[in-house]
Amino acid sequence: MPELPEVETLRRDLARHLPGAVLRDLWTSGKALRLGRPLDVEAIRALTVGRRVLRLRRLAKYLLVDTDAGGALVVHLGMSGHLLVCPAAAPRAPHTHLVWRLDDGGRELRYVDPRRFGQVTTVLTGEEATLPELQLLGLEPLGRALTAARLAELLGASKRPLKTFLLDQTRVAGLGNIYVSEALFRARLHPSLPSDAAVAAAPALRDAIRSVISRAIANRGTTIRDYTDASGREGRNQLVLQVYGREGEPCFVCGGRVRRQVDSGRSTFFCPRCQPARSFRPAARSKKQRGQGRTGIR
Ligand SMILES: [Zn+2]
Repeated sequence: MPELPEVETLRRDLARHLPGAVLRDLWTSGKALRLGRPLDVEAIRALTVGRRVLRLRRLAKYLLVDTDAGGALVVHLGMSGHLLVCPAAAPRAPHTHLVWRLDDGGRELRYVDPRRFGQVTTVLTGEEATLPELQLLGLEPLGRALTAARLAELLGASKRPLKTFLLDQTRVAGLGNIYVSEALFRARLHPSLPSDAAVAAAPALRDAIRSVISRAIANRGTTIRDYTDASGREGRNQLVLQVYGREGEPCFVCGGRVRRQVDSGRSTFFCPRCQPARSFRPAARSKKQRGQGRTGIR
């Protein structure tokens, strides 16, 4: 499932290909995407067809393609969505749902989504806050508003487990299972610790969130199942994950076993020794972990 780093990688890739191009000839599969809602093809057409792409923006896990029509195409990739620029002659992948021809010679912009949990909609520039999906978004993990003090305030106001708190897009936006597991491990926090018991850990948690997200972007995303970047290549961040997907394997820091815990059908991976269930004690990073930051795969 694409999370913030994968969407940011896609944004950066598309930002090299799309701005300046004019979108033409919209084709759609006629299939509904998220929640079985039909696409508003007329609204999409009005903001894109015959219009020049100005820039690509990202709000949490939403990708916004701004055009000179004064609005943006808003894309959420859901579980398996993908937006790519490819030669018009390339065969269309199964489950292709939207296609635009680009006017700059022989290329197409395509939206492909096998599981159809994604969303393609539109918004007028400056009215982003009116979209229900966008108006509730919490703090951007890499933005300036996510200070340790602000995070401490949010933690202090919640009794929910840290994992649930971090997955809630209205607090900190854009984190999913992978990066919540990784950030909690890095901050040495147990996923079930009540949020208001972790207020003192806010600086460590903030640094951990920014660090795992930045590293994942530098690694061009994490490929667990089917995420690929705009040109179809897999990310490399799965090679440096510390706990996610490593149930039963040795912890890189203490050598203990990584455990998996399932709440509401969602897995969290953690090390019970490095992330004790109760108290929070800031700990120095181990030599091994420090070394990985410098010499590991980037
Ligand atoms: Zn450990």
